[in-house]
Amino acid sequence: TAAVLGLSLTLAGCGSDSDGGSGDSGKKAEGKIGVILPDTKSSVRWESADRPALEAAFKAAGVDYDIQNAEGDADKMATIADSMIADGVTVLAIVNLDSDSGASIEEKAGKQGVKTIDYDRLTLGGSADYYVSFDNTKVGELQGQGLDKCLAGKDANIIYLNGSPTDNNATLFSQGAHSVLDKVSAYKKVGEQAVPDWDNEKAVTIFEQLYTKVDGDVQGVYAANDGLAGSVISILQKNGQDGKVPVTGQDATVEGLQNILAGTQCMSVYKSAKEEAGALADAAIALAKGEKADTNGTTEDKTGNRQVPSILLTPKSITKDNVKDVVDDGGAKASDICTGS
Ligand code: BGC
Repeated sequence: TAAVLGLSLTLAGCGSDSDGGSGDSGKKAEGKIGVILPDTKSSVRWESADRPALEAAFKAAGVDYDIQNAEGDADKMATIADSMIADGVTVLAIVNLDSDSGASIEEKAGKQGVKTIDYDRLTLGGSADYYVSFDNTKVGELQGQGLDKCLAGKDANIIYLNGSPTDNNATLFSQGAHSVLDKVSAYKKVGEQAVPDWDNEKAVTIFEQLYTKVDGDVQGVYAANDGLAGSVISILQKNGQDGKVPVTGQDATVEGLQNILAGTQCMSVYKSAKEEAGALADAAIALAKGEKADTNGTTEDKTGNRQVPSILLTPKSITKDNVKDVVDDGGAKASDICTGS
C-alpha cells in the first residue's frame, strides 16, 4: 500500500504539508458535506428542486453528503447542525431561517474547524466562508420589469407583498422591484407588507386586508414568489379579478408556470437549481479538500462589516412566451405543467 499511497500522493501533487497519515490522496474531498434546507412551506423549491439537484451534484462528484430540512424551526436547524458536525461533516451549508440563528450556527461550526457556506440566503453578521446564490437585486429588477411590461405603462395602483422580513433576499427582491417601478409616475403604491416566513396562508389574510382597504382599486400586484402569487390570485379570484390584475412571482414552480399559462400570473423568475446546487457542490468540495473555491465577486454584509466571497448566478425572467425554456433546461416537466385540457 505504501507504493500506492506514494503514487497517489505524487499524482495529487501534495506538498510536504499534506496530511500523509490518513492515506488519502488529497484529491478526494474528505469527510462529509452537510446541507440544511430551511423549510417545506415558504417555497416548494427546497424539496422539489434544490434537494434533487444537490443530491445529483454530490453523487456526480462522488462525495459523501447529508441533506436535511429544518422545517421552519431555527432551533431544529441548530440541532441538525450540531449532529452533522458530531457526525463528521467538514463543510456545512445552510439556508438560514433568520440571520441571528444562522450566525450562531456558523460561529459554532467555525470554532470546531468546520467551513461554512451560505446557500441562497446571506447570513447578516455571519461568518460563512462563501456565499452561493443568484444576483438577488437582479431578481427584484426582473420582477419590476415584468410587472411594468404587463401593466404597459397604464395608470396603476400597486400592492407589494414582500417575502419574509428575516430573509435578506426578500429585502433585495423588494428593493430591486421598487428601483424599477418607483421610476414610473403612472404607478402608485397603495399598500406594502412583508409576509412572515413567506407563509402562504398568512399571505392570503394579509393581501385580503390590503386589498379591502383600498376597495379593490388595485391594478397590479408585486408578489415576491410563486407561492405568495398563488395567495394573491386566490383573493383576486374571489373578487372576479384574477387574470385582470397582473401578479409577479419567482421560482418557476409548477403552480407558478401553470398560472402564467392560465393568464392569472404575469411572470416568474427562473433560478436554475441545477446551477445553484452545482455551484454549492463545487465550492463545498473545494473547501473539503482544503482548497479555495472559485468566486465571481463579493457580497457586502453591512451588519458584519465584511465582504463575503461569492458565487452569484444570473436569474431569468419567465413569461408566457418562454415557459418552455424552463422545461428545456430541466427545471420543470411539461407533463407536470400541462395537466388537463
Ligand atoms: C429564495 C426564494 C424562495 C424564498 C422562500 C428566498 O430566500 O431566494 O427562491 O422563494 O426564499 O423560500
